Amino acid sequence: LRIAMLSVHSSPMGELGTKDTGGMSVYVRELARELGNRGHRVDIYTRLNGSRHKQIAQINDKVRLIHLRAGKNGQMNKLDLYGHLDDFFRELEKFRTRESLHYDLVHSHYWLSGRVGKWAQESWTIPHVFMFHTVGAVKNSTVGSEKEPELRTVTEKHLARSCDRILVATDKERDHLIQHYGASPQMIGVVPCGVNLDLFSPRDKAKARQELGFAQDESIVLFVGRFAPLKGIDRLMEAMCHLQHHQRLRLIIVGGDGRDAPEFQTLQKLARNFGIQEGVTFVGRIEQDNLPAYYSAANVLVVPSYYESFGLVALEALASGTPVVATKVGAMESILKAGTTGHVVSNGSPLLLAKGIEKFISGSNGLSAHELRASVLRFSWSNVASAMIDQYAAVLRQWDFPTCCCGTVSMG
Ligand code: UDP
Repeated sequence: LRIAMLSVHSSPMGELGTKDTGGMSVYVRELARELGNRGHRVDIYTRLNGSRHKQIAQINDKVRLIHLRAGKNGQMNKLDLYGHLDDFFRELEKFRTRESLHYDLVHSHYWLSGRVGKWAQESWTIPHVFMFHTVGAVKNSTVGSEKEPELRTVTEKHLARSCDRILVATDKERDHLIQHYGASPQMIGVVPCGVNLDLFSPRDKAKARQELGFAQDESIVLFVGRFAPLKGIDRLMEAMCHLQHHQRLRLIIVGGDGRDAPEFQTLQKLARNFGIQEGVTFVGRIEQDNLPAYYSAANVLVVPSYYESFGLVALEALASGTPVVATKVGAMESILKAGTTGHVVSNGSPLLLAKGIEKFISGSNGLSAHELRASVLRFSWSNVASAMIDQYAAVLRQWDFPTCCCGTVSMG
């Protein structure tokens, strides 16, 4: 297959853990790489944002990352970028014509790319596969989330009804799209996200701590992710407040845009207000290749989010042999087995989070690191790519012979 993949606002090779770069970038990069390994040709188009980039970066033999200019070269907020999407598509057309490229399908990620995907679908007469990653209408009904503009929800609703197939990572997201945007259930395929099982694997906890300079006699609670309000770091801090009777307990926070960023200042202030600042360490964003040591060093990873479309960090922790305590978001209920691989807190209250964390900081939870890892082996990127190829095949069949076909792909 020749696939045009669109990830306009966030580069798959961007700095993970910063404002607009997280799970979606990992998803695009890993999926494309795996499709390339199987002989499919993938061109990923993203907006030029920085001076260090060559126009074309080769990710592997068959996968290219192509930077196109849209508006200024530099940080741009998403709403401003919306006004430059037509420039992006014009540049894409110029590039495609110059290189005489023809694609079998366009696969777009997030609503901004979805809009460009729609133009590609119309002018190239090929199917458009769309992934929301997060859903504006759901964010708007979530406490603690920044409100999304009507432009986004209106665009998403239109995309839900005009693309050829919607792919989601969980049944929950499928239900949201039916409920909020009137998406047709037959149009939606469910393909869970994946984890790099070669990178994330169990390591010796003591060695990992030594390597990172962490104390051997502390219990470590880990958070990994962007510093967005919906990540719920505030309620994790409040939960830590409830655990102050535990001696030698530390919260390690990975991610963020650096010490000058307002989000960092806010969290630091919050830690002070809760009186837990001595037990909190901010380590900044960490290159993904260096993250496995953090997961191995921790007693437990916490995903305290108000909203998550999937929650890749939970898979990464489990693949590294570390249990997870999470709120009831994204794929947590299907990934975590209560009381063994983790704990899902029903209403997300800081007190319940604290009780969940407590189960895993006071000694062993009974499962070995290898048993924890075994619980997520089915989420390899290879399985994700196989499921995705089935979805592509279905949409291409449907394009040629429009009949009804739906798809929930099992990765069991
Ligand atoms: N991540 C990283 N370094 C950091 C923080 C995060 O590499 O400092 C990666 C992490 O490994 C994960 C992704 O960013 O793959 C976050 O994905 P997740 O689905 O948990 O959250 P999202 O960003 O999609 O909200």
